[in-house]
Amino acid sequence: MKDNIHPQYGPVTIRCVCGNEIQTRSTKNNIQVDICSACHPLFTGKQKLVDTAGRIDRFKKKFGERVATAADAKKKADAKAEKDKKIKEAKQAELAAKMKEKEAPKK
Ligand SMILES: [Zn+2]
Repeated sequence: MKDNIHPQYGPVTIRCVCGNEIQTRSTKNNIQVDICSACHPLFTGKQKLVDTAGRIDRFKKKFGERVATAADAKKKADAKAEKDKKIKEAKQAELAAKMKEKEAPKK
């Protein structure tokens, strides 16, 4: 090997966010990974949410407002249902009053 042109090649530890550590050798000092063979769904066989390149954040950024609007729409619908109920009750009360008025002259 030629002198002074090769990077230092030594033992390193690859650390995953799941806590798994892998001992290996590399020219890099410390390696941090988001997913490894101990926690990747392919190896674990379990369903897991893997946020690749901030897709969830992008989704929230794009549709977060609409999701909030959907919640607002439900509130609005509930309020409308409440209002309709009150109107129905008022109409029934009015009808009952009319019925009484009709009954009253007969007596
Ligand atoms: Zn891992």
